[in-house]
Amino acid sequence: MSDLAERDRAVIWHPFTQMQLAPLPTPIVRGEGSILYGADGRTYLDMISSWWVNLHGHAHPYIAERVSEQLRTLEHVIFADFTHQPAVELAERLLEILPVNQAKVFYSDNGSTAVEVALKMAFQYWHNLGKPRQNVVALENAYHGDTFGAMAVGGRSAFTAPFVPFLFDVDYLPFPSAHQESDVLAQAEKLLTDNVAALIIEPLVQGAGGMNMYSPDTLDKLIQIARRHNVLIIADEVMTGFGRTGRLFASDYLREKPDLMCLSKGLTGGTMALGVTTCTQAIYDAFLSDNKFKTLFHGHSFTANPLACAAALASMDLLLSNDTQHSIQRIAQRNADFAQRLTTYPTVENIRQRGSLLAFDLKAGEQTSYFNSIRDVAYTFLLERGILMRPLGNVLYLIPPYCTSDEQLDYVYQQIEQLLVTL
Ligand SMILES: *Cc1c(COP(=O)(O)O)cnc(C)c1O
Repeated sequence: MSDLAERDRAVIWHPFTQMQLAPLPTPIVRGEGSILYGADGRTYLDMISSWWVNLHGHAHPYIAERVSEQLRTLEHVIFADFTHQPAVELAERLLEILPVNQAKVFYSDNGSTAVEVALKMAFQYWHNLGKPRQNVVALENAYHGDTFGAMAVGGRSAFTAPFVPFLFDVDYLPFPSAHQESDVLAQAEKLLTDNVAALIIEPLVQGAGGMNMYSPDTLDKLIQIARRHNVLIIADEVMTGFGRTGRLFASDYLREKPDLMCLSKGLTGGTMALGVTTCTQAIYDAFLSDNKFKTLFHGHSFTANPLACAAALASMDLLLSNDTQHSIQRIAQRNADFAQRLTTYPTVENIRQRGSLLAFDLKAGEQTSYFNSIRDVAYTFLLERGILMRPLGNVLYLIPPYCTSDEQLDYVYQQIEQLLVTL
């Protein structure tokens, strides 16, 4: 079976991977619950929900059943001029659980496209009103995806360096950590003007930027400043959505609700690629006109794919069940307890936790960056013990599927502690 890895190397270019340095990839043959089964018989506890997408465990039989029924009924249909049951039902059910000001659902097929659509809606909203606005404000260190618009509103880093000349300008606010709050709000007063089309944020947790967390109160204040200038608020909940923060959406912690929301990742329980952008009635209305030039000219071949919508509906059934809601709180509590235990380790700092998300920094001496070697040490140590965690540089984090048992969590916590004493 290592044969498969060799065949892979001959023909495949992997994401975020320096192909010259990367070891051969690990073939996975099957998944069940939080466990991935390797072709060589080894098992891996998937503690990062396979890039933050999985909610209920791998190959969930209920989702599989619902998707396969849909597959035998209608696999796909063009979504301009046509519609179908799963798309309509999913939109209805999403609007029931999203903040009440969300009124319309626009489908696409991943998190980056959900962000692109939100940006285009925001720019064209002002354009259609005949009051075009030129600026966008984002947070330093943000991550909103890898397509060009999404990259443009993300923080500038080694990841975007080759593309900087091609990205539109964005004004950045520093990350609003507790001790920087008043500074950030003062800068916001300056940057958020009547020329800003939108403020885009990852509410409460910056994911790829290092699982950095900030308070709902600070974000509410930031949004209030933006609102004084009618700046549209885009909440990128691609990572934080569907229970990760302990509530269904991170925006549920806010008094000030966003105008636009981006969803993907957990949307289908991690089964299929699907993206959603939702907006308020006021934004939607700005596109209604006898004038065809006010149309939102955006669409993807696989817009609202029925299989993906069926997976999302099945995932939502599971997510809203008492069992899952219980599990989310159980994992949150276990993580909070473990966070407490972590404070006793001198090699650990900046411990942060919200809901089922837990993150902390490994002290790495001089050079703390994504490219720090401590990352490889931690990654390999845990992988050898059957735990899949993929540190963001020196940031170690957990984002487990909600089906992860107490025993599995205990094992993971133990192995992390083993790692900490060897560092
Ligand atoms: C992963 C992510 C994206 C991009 O989603 P893709 O489906 O990978 O394109 C956008 N925003 C946030 C906050 C994310 O975590």
